[in-house]
Amino acid sequence: MVTHSPPAAPSPAHICPSAQACSYLNWAARELQLDPGLLAILSTPRKVVTVAVPVRLDNQQIQVLAGHRVQHCNVLGPYKGGIRYHPAITLEEVSALAMLMTWKCALMGVPYGGAKGGIPIDPRQYSVPELERITRRYTSELIKDIGPAIDIPAPDMGTSAREMAWMMDTYSVNVGHAVPGVVTGKPLSMGGSRGREMATGRGVMLMVREALAWQGGSLAGARVLIQGFGNVGRAAARLLHQAGAKILAVSRTAGGLYNPNGLDIPALEVYTRERGGSMVGFPAAEPIDNAELLLQKADVLIPAALENQITEANADKIQVQIVAEAANGPTTLAADQILNARGITVLPDILTNAGGVVVSYLEWVQGLSYLFWEEERVNQEMENLMVRAFRQVVQEAENRQVSLRLSAYTLGVGRVARALQDRGLYP
Ligand code: NAD
Repeated sequence: MVTHSPPAAPSPAHICPSAQACSYLNWAARELQLDPGLLAILSTPRKVVTVAVPVRLDNQQIQVLAGHRVQHCNVLGPYKGGIRYHPAITLEEVSALAMLMTWKCALMGVPYGGAKGGIPIDPRQYSVPELERITRRYTSELIKDIGPAIDIPAPDMGTSAREMAWMMDTYSVNVGHAVPGVVTGKPLSMGGSRGREMATGRGVMLMVREALAWQGGSLAGARVLIQGFGNVGRAAARLLHQAGAKILAVSRTAGGLYNPNGLDIPALEVYTRERGGSMVGFPAAEPIDNAELLLQKADVLIPAALENQITEANADKIQVQIVAEAANGPTTLAADQILNARGITVLPDILTNAGGVVVSYLEWVQGLSYLFWEEERVNQEMENLMVRAFRQVVQEAENRQVSLRLSAYTLGVGRVARALQDRGLYP
């Protein structure tokens, strides 16, 4: 593709959904010496949809919600990305997360483009029948924009296999036959994949294992701090503990637990399950708050909760050799530079937390082939794809003499740019 007049291309700065997402894209584009026209295309989401979602509440009143879906890029295959129910979600955030998904899928070598969706609600404020009506109406409003060859939603914060089942059913009723491939992260009963629930945490464990081995260490005896004990943090803690690592600390919103000799993770899982998630009073551990947890001495820190947890204010006090970004965007740009300057290895989110989308891909493949695998096969196929991506990121970083984050972005962005160039610009 030849771009004769780059200035005529829309300025990415004006269209770009989020400063941080675009900074990383621009950074990779500079490293790749990307054509400005290509950069303009990659900076711009292909389709941004906001639909009205009118819903009758249990008290018979009607509430009209906004339902977003942003489709960033479908150069390599159908759009793919989660549906988030969270009160703070904005169209800008959804757009940034959609872009992130594009690079993540390309980095993993799975044939998808990025998308994300969301409704700004706190799902805990709604009854289950209300959530079902919200999800079904939202799906119905997006009926022409989703589909197994078009855009395949998955669970994200605030949604789960339950919402995916409602989406699949609504879509199927509308088209007149069962279409399991329209969503991933479904219940096993209707074509979900074994291993999906633990997939992101398993991927985190694999990436930490590979990074330690790359530095001449191993999981056995490695000391690990985990912020967040939700779907991802809990699965990572369980698998790391099984592999012989010592989990020194874990936390939830209200605070966490610390034991310098390692927490008994199986006992903690039982304890929290019996107490609706609360960790308070767990024996053989001292309480620790979330800010302190990040600053403890250990080998690996896994932020698995929220974005912007490692910032300019605490990056110079982090005392680990590896930060494994299980959450999306837990490190600010400025903090990333501080960690790099201090020689701390940062495993970037688009690599570290890609296990979920990889197993979503495997679920989609199983659904399209009507052939369902045992969990061992799912885990092995996922491990193959993730370890391959890790090695490619390390190789690229060594070739270019850049950080693992920049290397992950140059690989992801570079693959999409190359495909875009080979396909050409229509018409
Ligand atoms: P979750 O809602 O299941 O768990 C989040 C955890 O973080 C909970 O334990 C919560 O108590 C804790 N938390 C919230 N605020 C906190 C705070 N201020 N300090 C410490 N802990 C806090 O969510 P999840 O699915 O585990 O996702 C966690 C992160 O991983 C998110 O950034 C998400 O985008 C990312 N992620 C998740 C998946 C997935 O498959 N679930 C995939 C890729 C990325």
